[in-house]
Amino acid sequence: EQWAAAVAAVRSAGADDEVQLICHVNPDGDALGSMLGFALGLRRLGHTRLRATFPGDFAVPGPYQQLPGSDLLVPEKDAFVSPRLVLIFDVAGVSRLGGLAGLLTTAPAAVVLDHHASNTGFGGIQLVDPSAAATSVVAEGLLSRLGVPLDAEIAECLYVALATDTGSFKFDMTTVSVHELAARLIATGIRPGEISRRIFDSKPFGAMKLTGEVLGRAVLDPGAAGGRGMVWTWATLDDLERHGQPPYILDTLIDPVRSVAEADVSVVVKEVAPGEWSVSLRSKGAVDVSAVAVSQGGGGHRLAAGFTGYGEAAHVVDTVRRLLDRYLI
Ligand code: 5GP
Ligand code: MN
Ligand code: MN
Repeated sequence: EQWAAAVAAVRSAGADDEVQLICHVNPDGDALGSMLGFALGLRRLGHTRLRATFPGDFAVPGPYQQLPGSDLLVPEKDAFVSPRLVLIFDVAGVSRLGGLAGLLTTAPAAVVLDHHASNTGFGGIQLVDPSAAATSVVAEGLLSRLGVPLDAEIAECLYVALATDTGSFKFDMTTVSVHELAARLIATGIRPGEISRRIFDSKPFGAMKLTGEVLGRAVLDPGAAGGRGMVWTWATLDDLERHGQPPYILDTLIDPVRSVAEADVSVVVKEVAPGEWSVSLRSKGAVDVSAVAVSQGGGGHRLAAGFTGYGEAAHVVDTVRRLLDRYLI
């Protein structure tokens, strides 16, 4: 039983043992929220040596900089070298761990908490539930089995994770149990309206201008995805610079793009380095975009996935367009 093994692994670390928590590169609300919510739970259990981190640039997207537990966040270089326990959040495969992957071999115990259908089964103990709407659902399951009661700080972290990964409780994974968990989180006294405003409706004016430009160059391709249509656009580092915006703003662009009625599939190609693009894919059901992403070395869920593409943006999109027909559902 994976739950029992995970509980035993967490309990194997004493209150003064080093515990390292990790989430995926370029962390989103679920990665940070589930990791910090769980870290706060361990703090409630008496743990004194907790560090939380993620690989790559130590840049926390603006909306998540105020999350409770952020005092536990350290840059990748300050992660424990050989912790007693490693806990990994929202990570589908080792490539998403960057330089931190080595901890999987140095730590005597590792637990992976995740919900990606494309999870590769890496790490020690795997709590991977593809039917979970967010990793925070899995994190809450483990916290409750450890006997940690929800408080407002833990709840805020888990709520941010749940709200971001369900698109504010809009996506298909938004089940009865998702709402039941949300209700238990809200019952701790957190303010959903305030949190949503902070997470979704607090972007700088320059981000709106940047969004306008990127949406203005979007292309509709009605024949793609077996005639169900694809809409796509791209954004460059130069766009960010001209509008004075941080990289995470590019990750918010997929939401307006995916709202187009004439397209079942939406694509945003985001420059992360010259000739290197982070590709966001969304489907309304015609295509398993996770299969498309996996075929390109990425991963995700059936209706939301991503990968890294190389070369010209238009070339990356051509590749996606060709693959869509192969993975029609
Ligand atoms: P997003 O488009 O929001 O960056 O990502 C959508 C989903 O695909 C998320 O669940 C994310 O974890 C996953 N994903 C995005 N990019 C990659 C990638 O390069 N590799 C893997 N394995 N998963 C990715
Ligand atoms: Mn994530
Ligand atoms: Mn997630």
